[in-house]
Amino acid sequence: MSLAATGDVNLRMIDPVDNCRQLLALIAPPRCLFCGLRPHAAAVNTVEGCCPGCRRDLPWNLEACPGCALPSAGAQRCRRCRERPARFDRAWTAFDLAEPVHASLLGLKYRARFADGRVLAQLMAQALRDDGRALPDCLLPVPLHWSRLMRRGYNQAQRITRVLSAELGVPMDESLLRRRRRGRDQIGQSAAARRANLRGVFEARGSLQGRRIALVDDVMTTGATFDELARVCRRAGAVDIEVWAVARTRLA
Ligand SMILES: [Zn+2]
Ligand SMILES: [Zn+2]
Repeated sequence: MSLAATGDVNLRMIDPVDNCRQLLALIAPPRCLFCGLRPHAAAVNTVEGCCPGCRRDLPWNLEACPGCALPSAGAQRCRRCRERPARFDRAWTAFDLAEPVHASLLGLKYRARFADGRVLAQLMAQALRDDGRALPDCLLPVPLHWSRLMRRGYNQAQRITRVLSAELGVPMDESLLRRRRRGRDQIGQSAAARRANLRGVFEARGSLQGRRIALVDDVMTTGATFDELARVCRRAGAVDIEVWAVARTRLA
């Protein structure tokens, strides 16, 4: 049997430009985060830690409004976004906030399960690449207030942003945005009350003059936090502002 007959897939796997991680994954592929099985060695170009079957079955947010990332037929901008556009230019999330993504995000946020964050961020990066969209100049994680950072020990948005930055080759700035005070509970508040509540919560400690940025968080709920951050970033000079999150809640 000729070497070519082994197929493109195998030839790609032994390509000398492939990195060590892929070689390691070939010898002992990590178990799938969602089903616990080891993906078959032939499953190349999949995300480490997620088997092709689980990847296919994840709650991908495929047909969504580019303004608010809520489901929208044909990915058209929804009426609400046309009438009252947010202060960011576009919103994108990889998933709906449904299982098993929800459980993984809770694990990342409250139980320091960083492997969950890494797999989700790699899936996000792969989806962004497949989307063929123009990438921003800089990624900025949504900041936590220092008191929350002290208690939790890490910022889950920062963890996700670090992986995205490495995977996409887009630099990140972890310290440009700062949360000055803790936001009050937003549940049950009107959009106007949420806006008022968030005013002055964030500051930019540097210039974003002429930059195209993406703000990154774990979950997009109402979009109010992103909207206020977009206002701050626009004032700091950002010319194009996207917001990215792992998952979107359906509540808005
Ligand atoms: Zn699986
Ligand atoms: Zn919309």
